Amino acid sequence: MDVSFQAQTGSTDWTAESLTAVNLQLREVSLTSVLRWSLERFAPRICLATSFGPQSIVLMHQVSLLRPETTVFYLDTELLFPETYALRDRLQEQLGLRFTRVTADFGVDEQGMRFGPQLWARDPDQCCQLRKVAPLRRFLVGQQAWITGVRRSHTSERAEASMVEWDPANQLIKLNPLVRWDSRQVWDYLRRYDLPVNTLHAEGYPSIGCRPCTRAVPPGEDPRSGRWPGFQKTECGIHGPARPRLLRLGGRPLEEQAG
Ligand code: SF4
Repeated sequence: MDVSFQAQTGSTDWTAESLTAVNLQLREVSLTSVLRWSLERFAPRICLATSFGPQSIVLMHQVSLLRPETTVFYLDTELLFPETYALRDRLQEQLGLRFTRVTADFGVDEQGMRFGPQLWARDPDQCCQLRKVAPLRRFLVGQQAWITGVRRSHTSERAEASMVEWDPANQLIKLNPLVRWDSRQVWDYLRRYDLPVNTLHAEGYPSIGCRPCTRAVPPGEDPRSGRWPGFQKTECGIHGPARPRLLRLGGRPLEEQAG
């Protein structure tokens, strides 16, 4: 059952203390209520990031019901699978959302000329920085909050994630409404609402990113082992660790809070 709550709706300041308080208030609240609060609190300067992964589809479905005009964006590295682009088109039609395509400053061919061919095979961190992290940072300028599909159980780097946190890299609020969900809850939701998913999942791809950096995973192996095989890398870099900061919204400068 939904719990009615009011959290920071009149304030423009965020501190470590107010973030802790709002996370406490949101702890027992349904996904729909968290998203409704987020959209009411930050719209129109709020956007939803999608990777077209299972958790993203849960969020897109909810946002399509609550506020379908919300900006929903994806990072198009130009190296996604054809199946991912097909899913994008299907979701756009089925959910009535309009996706904003965010790209790097240059295409894959130009990247090859500047940095050498197949940068992903030599330095995937730099490749992700050029094709994901930097475009994201540019896109988020002017937004007050972004919604992500981060879940604590996804990777060890995400184990400490909070529902509402300050994103120090991009200087805005980051909302992770599914932070406590596990994979089973996500898939139960997708089945309950008969939502489409990437057809590659049925071919053994539990986590799907760019073509050169994604492989199928044999049953029983870590689902994330299919990403950047051969490298220690488990994250593309857009979800860094969260640290408390004092945020002042409304066009005034942002400050950092010690500690
Ligand atoms: Fe490049 Fe691979 Fe990162 Fe995609 S996932 S941006 S191909 S390194």
